[in-house]
Amino acid sequence: MAERYVAIQVGAVSFVDEGVGPVLDAFQERAGVNALFLATPTWTRGTGGRQIPGHPLPDHGEQEYDPDWKGGNYATVHPEFYGNTVLGAAGRAAEHPKWDIFEEVIPEARRRGMKSVAWIEESGYAQELRNYPNFPKCLEVDPYNRPTLRPCFNNPDYRNWHLSIVEDYVKSYDLDGIAWCSERPGPLNMLMQAPTAPELVTCFCKYCREIGGERGIDPGRAQEGYRKVVEWNERVAGGERPADGAFVTFWRLLLQYPELLGWQTLWTESQRQLYRDIYGVAKACDPDVEVGWHVYHNISFSPFYRADQDYEEMARFSDFIKVVTYDNCAGPRFYTWIHNICQSLFADASPKRSTPDDEAPEPGGGPLPGSPQDRLLGRVRAAGDGAGRGRCRG
Ligand SMILES: [Zn+2]
Repeated sequence: MAERYVAIQVGAVSFVDEGVGPVLDAFQERAGVNALFLATPTWTRGTGGRQIPGHPLPDHGEQEYDPDWKGGNYATVHPEFYGNTVLGAAGRAAEHPKWDIFEEVIPEARRRGMKSVAWIEESGYAQELRNYPNFPKCLEVDPYNRPTLRPCFNNPDYRNWHLSIVEDYVKSYDLDGIAWCSERPGPLNMLMQAPTAPELVTCFCKYCREIGGERGIDPGRAQEGYRKVVEWNERVAGGERPADGAFVTFWRLLLQYPELLGWQTLWTESQRQLYRDIYGVAKACDPDVEVGWHVYHNISFSPFYRADQDYEEMARFSDFIKVVTYDNCAGPRFYTWIHNICQSLFADASPKRSTPDDEAPEPGGGPLPGSPQDRLLGRVRAAGDGAGRGRCRG
């Protein structure tokens, strides 16, 4: 992109509560913001609602929680774009039903020289999604052949629904960009990094099994291997310590079932293929629209997740990459991640012994040692360097 984004993520409720003009003026005057990441659709309260109950309310705006918040699409849903998916035109948010975030914000943003990007969060875990008619037909399947909670990237109805949202947004509004957000890691990462419920170990639906077969990975062997790792994860999380240790017994399963790694990559690649499809569809609708990705905050502390996210490859279908970096909440999240992995893959070690001294967060989740700004810049530079070797601009 010609100009660097100085972007801020913002949900509909902020504009409704405080007014579009005053919010945009505050962004511009106080933070030099030149791009808005408008959170729609989102089914995640932390990005679309006012404040998570129990967390302190900010010192501006309405001073009340919104416990009945459901989320969804805060723009007008144009049904003609939602063909070829059983989900149809579902998704309009229950809140502010007559209020269209793009109609209200884009002209005001443009008047101030600010870009408007639709920040689309799939919120795959959200119950509200499963309340939509037919959504249970789009679910992932676990190693025990049970449909689970989250939608599958390879399910054509789910894919086409998101591609429909992208088409609707790009054709119906004068947007500058699309940013798509999927905050979930694949099955092996889940099992390595924390005590994990089997229903989060996915996906073995008929579409994923078919793709596995095409890639030369035996779906039956992959499923069997994952059942064994689920059992390993349950035993280790329950405090059992195998004679060879948690790590060695895990590694033995990897040696016996190389399909485990194959299926992890299949999952990640399926997520990435949806990125490619979104990129292509958005560009087909408007070649000038910029398309990029929100990269889940696990990137900041998980070497396994970092290895999945190949920025050089991503740059082939990205105009920008929004790496999720945190300052004040990085310490508690990093601490939790280390604590969790020491109940799974690194269960033979303590949290303190699993972390380099200069990176160890305080017990109880205090701030990270050193400068949070340096830490954030490190992650952002890694993305920039990787993307620069591909074809990503900016
Ligand atoms: Zn699947």
